[in-house]
Amino acid sequence: MAKVAVKLVSWDEIADWARDLSSKILESGWRPDVVMAIARGGYVPARLVCDNLGVMDLVSVQVVHWPSTAQAIERAFIKHEARVDSLAGKRVLVIDDIVDTGDSISLAKEYAEKAGAGEVRSAALQWISTVAKFKPDYYSINVTDWKWFVYPWNVTEDVTNFMKRIIMEEGASKNRWGFTELVSKMREWYGDEIMKVPLSYISKALINLEQMGLIERSSNGAEYVVKGK
Ligand code: AMP
Repeated sequence: MAKVAVKLVSWDEIADWARDLSSKILESGWRPDVVMAIARGGYVPARLVCDNLGVMDLVSVQVVHWPSTAQAIERAFIKHEARVDSLAGKRVLVIDDIVDTGDSISLAKEYAEKAGAGEVRSAALQWISTVAKFKPDYYSINVTDWKWFVYPWNVTEDVTNFMKRIIMEEGASKNRWGFTELVSKMREWYGDEIMKVPLSYISKALINLEQMGLIERSSNGAEYVVKGK
């Protein structure tokens, strides 16, 4: 049994979901003047929705709630603000990739309202209806079974965090890892689904961990040694 249920999302799925989301917005008869992407996950969905709806004004606000893959902090906060003067009196659509607890999107919506927007609606590609405290006005996929979705713009970061967790948490009993050992541990922790990630991403994740100073290559290059152990 995997420690965290994971699902890889393809670019084709993203394009389909964004098209479906855009159709739902169009069918509702409401058209935003401005799209506000919630950084960072909302960037690609927001850009696709702008393209589908023909919206020219795209702004962004950065909300932080899950600073490390599949690990939330208690309270979502705004890290970078939008240019508030551009929202005054406008119909604003705030967009994120996924609504999980709902804290990020409700904070962004509240932010746009306080910034003087005329009407604010919310949209996400996915809505985890079984856990969210907030239901977006528009969504494409209703998720009923919580998973961590590895979006195509986040693969390196997610795999780096997954690897980091394995190395840190198993560090007390194991400080030298072969590449294949790490890969099979990743399968044990994150399930068969994670094996769909091309090996080049796993190699890149290990380079990232070396650059972070967490691991180094053994002198013969065959193993990764956990530093400080
Ligand atoms: P929340 O504030 O809990 O609704 O979290 C929303 C933000 O965290 C989104 O912008 C996502 O980028 C990220 N996130 C939260 N839950 C997940 C998940 N299950 N899979 C992938 N990303 C997630």
